[in-house]
Amino acid sequence: MEREPSAKELQRYESVRERWEEVCSRCGRCCFERELGDGGEVLVDYASPCRFFDMGTHLCRVYKDRFRKNERCARVTLRVALFDELLPEECAYRQLLREESDGTAAL
Ligand code: SF4
Ligand code: SF4
Repeated sequence: MEREPSAKELQRYESVRERWEEVCSRCGRCCFERELGDGGEVLVDYASPCRFFDMGTHLCRVYKDRFRKNERCARVTLRVALFDELLPEECAYRQLLREESDGTAAL
């Protein structure tokens, strides 16, 4: 069962909650198919981007409408940032919020 966020994780979240969207580094890694490797690492299949992902700009072509256009597109919430095992390790939300990091990801 999913645990509750720790006090430190909640503290980190509170420090960026007002500017949550700005945490995203626009790396685009979450817009590709992903799976877990044997060691639990996230493997990003860069040959399989979402059909709405623009490979030139690295941006979503339907950003404002993304949840309606793509039912598999998920908002990065606190719980996703902390517990989604397929969120890429390099994701700025994951780096900032999880205890596995030191919380010093650049914003
Ligand atoms: S719809 Fe979602 S997964 Fe697809 S490119 Fe846009 S933000 Fe990425
Ligand atoms: S992986 Fe994380 S930092 Fe990169 S685009 Fe997705 S939400 Fe933003």
